[in-house]
Amino acid sequence: MLRPLAPSEPIYPRRQAESLRAWLEVDLDAIRRNANRLQARAGLPLVAMVKADAYGTGMLPVVRALGAPFRGESVSVSNDSAPWAFGVATLDEAATLRQAGCTARVLCTTPLALRELSDARALDIRPALHRAEEIMAWSALKGGAWHLAVDTGMARAGIRWDEVDTLDLVVREHPPEGVFTHFHSADLGDDSRLLQEQHFTKALHVLGPSLPTSVLVHCDNSAAIAARTTPTVPPAHLARPGIGLYGAVATEALQLEQTVHLRARVVDLRDVHAGESVSYGAHWHAPDTRRIATVALGHGDGLRQAFSNRGVAILRGQRVPIVGTVSMDMTMLDVSTLAAGCAIGDVATFIGRDHEQSLTTDAVAQSVGLSPYELLVGLRLRVPRHYYETAVDSGAVDATIP
Ligand SMILES: *Cc1c(COP(=O)(O)O)cnc(C)c1O
Repeated sequence: MLRPLAPSEPIYPRRQAESLRAWLEVDLDAIRRNANRLQARAGLPLVAMVKADAYGTGMLPVVRALGAPFRGESVSVSNDSAPWAFGVATLDEAATLRQAGCTARVLCTTPLALRELSDARALDIRPALHRAEEIMAWSALKGGAWHLAVDTGMARAGIRWDEVDTLDLVVREHPPEGVFTHFHSADLGDDSRLLQEQHFTKALHVLGPSLPTSVLVHCDNSAAIAARTTPTVPPAHLARPGIGLYGAVATEALQLEQTVHLRARVVDLRDVHAGESVSYGAHWHAPDTRRIATVALGHGDGLRQAFSNRGVAILRGQRVPIVGTVSMDMTMLDVSTLAAGCAIGDVATFIGRDHEQSLTTDAVAQSVGLSPYELLVGLRLRVPRHYYETAVDSGAVDATIP
């Protein structure tokens, strides 16, 4: 049985489900089961990445569902298997968690400006640092635990793996709680991950004598957890999945579940005749008389124009094609093939399950040439999120830091 949860702060006024034009159903129980699968496969506690509003699914409901502790709330059973920490990318994201009373460990994996460090301290987060001056500034602020970011080939953030010797002294004086790196192509199954691991191993070897023996090593994102057939080299203590929690990218290897269902209602219907066009730019012409349904979902909701003339939706249990250009608020479907026809008020599913049919996030992204990350994160807040929990028992797997 589906139990709707109390909504978090609505950005747009909420209306009755019956009158909603478009909405995103988020299955929190599926997210929890995905977290358990990722944790079981990694054999490690998680830093659950909830940046970018939990990849568009809603950060606060997700951290609650994953068992994060909140001030003034008694610790529930589910907390035993809660992630070790939650990963954010900005101070605002951390502030959102703290303002809601979340007392979990929070790791910010994006570099911060020096002047942001006092706010980071006030928010009681663990920053990712890698410059001597910021490490010393953090220490002077008595900031507490921090993690050393090592660049082993992503060339995005962190100290280069072959330059960590320059941090030897500062790391010895201000020891980090953790050391981590990030893979650039773990999903490709090429040799790059092994090369990055070798770089990481060398960096850890160089810093070894200066690091506390308790230092927490972490590197695996979702794709690396899925790809891994041998234990992490060097041995890791934590894993940092993001997209896998939300049921994309590493879905088959880990048997992850679909977590989001994007739905919208049919708001208009018409026939168009041979040669007539549909939508902006007239990029689709009816080959013969066609039944066209207008659905209240557009690129203003995150249904990107990449779906124009390419995407599909499930309507009355059948797949029907998007015809013409996706506009800001509406998209048209060719529903001529629906034997029983179609009516205003019908619900079309653009991502997710509808009865026997399913459009997984990965399949949808691939079919329109988008990354599943962008597809999820691009779902706009104009689409209200509806949260569902299906069960209390999540079949939790316990994992402790080795
Ligand atoms: C986003 C991010 C992750 C999660 O990656 P996924 O591919 O979503 O699993 C892990 N670590 C860092 C540093 C990140 O920025």
